[in-house]
Amino acid sequence: MSRRRIVLASNNAAKLREMSTLLHGSAWGLVAQGELGVGAADEPHLTFIENALAKARHASALTEMAALADDSGICVDALNGAPGVSSARFAGDSANDQSNNAELLRRLAGVTGRQAHYTCVLVAVRTAGDAEPLIVDARWDGEIAQAPRGHGGFGYDPLFYLPDLGVTAAELDPAHKNRISHRGLALRALAKKMVDWR
Ligand code: IMP
Repeated sequence: MSRRRIVLASNNAAKLREMSTLLHGSAWGLVAQGELGVGAADEPHLTFIENALAKARHASALTEMAALADDSGICVDALNGAPGVSSARFAGDSANDQSNNAELLRRLAGVTGRQAHYTCVLVAVRTAGDAEPLIVDARWDGEIAQAPRGHGGFGYDPLFYLPDLGVTAAELDPAHKNRISHRGLALRALAKKMVDWR
């Protein structure tokens, strides 16, 4: 099968790994935008959907290829949905996964209601000016643990506790995470729409 190439509008290696695995065997081959010399797009918007569209358009404009973007984050009920679209930079401009997790625990100190969900919006565009982008979203419900556990996944996974399974997302093996995660659900829905996408 000859695969069609689509540029992934992200420089996040962990996302690229998850999404390449999820599209393995489909008609689509992902190329990371970094491999094509494309840097990060601005993400100034208040909603996941607007940021995902901005990223997909930016990558498509610079590569003249179809583009796929993921905008995702964790939304915590007790923080009125924060960190939300600011998940990657919750602890400031030079944040990393560790400092973001520490900031989340600090903000939830003493809080008993710890419900949270991951959300993922995926957008695919044929061109930068595509008036009919493919758009899907999905969420994954869980709770914020009192302390990090596990070494798999990335981002907030060591704190994202799944009460039904009794583990954090970082304690799941990658295939299990992909079966039930926000990104896995969204990407399977998108892959169906992309079967006859032209
Ligand atoms: P984005 O690159 O602007 O979409 O930022 C997404 C941020 O949300 C990541 O940097 C993580 O902090 C968080 N995030 C999104 N999806 C996941 C996940 O599957 N596991 C852990 N953290 C995630």
